[in-house]
Amino acid sequence: MRKSSQQKTARHQRSWIGVATWRWVANDENCGICRMAFDGCCPDCKIPGDDCPLVWGRCSHVFHMHCILKWLNSQLHQQLCPMCRQEWQFKE
Ligand SMILES: [Zn+2]
Ligand SMILES: [Zn+2]
Ligand SMILES: [Zn+2]
Repeated sequence: MRKSSQQKTARHQRSWIGVATWRWVANDENCGICRMAFDGCCPDCKIPGDDCPLVWGRCSHVFHMHCILKWLNSQLHQQLCPMCRQEWQFKE
């Protein structure tokens, strides 16, 4: 039982030791800003994990927190999701 799903999570857990509380979005494997995989970290960080968390927007897009913060800081007037250009709001 549950053999297939166990295999799937095992692949990610290998590099994510101790971050089992992370939620995984299977259809979005790369950050749309830096293009790095979500099982890695953003270009400013060296160690993936709690130090480089992922954040979700209301529009359901996911980014490294550091990437979206940098992106939002570069927006002068409106804060838009870089993927879908909707207004960016952090999902609680
Ligand atoms: Zn990123
Ligand atoms: Zn980072
Ligand atoms: Zn979006």
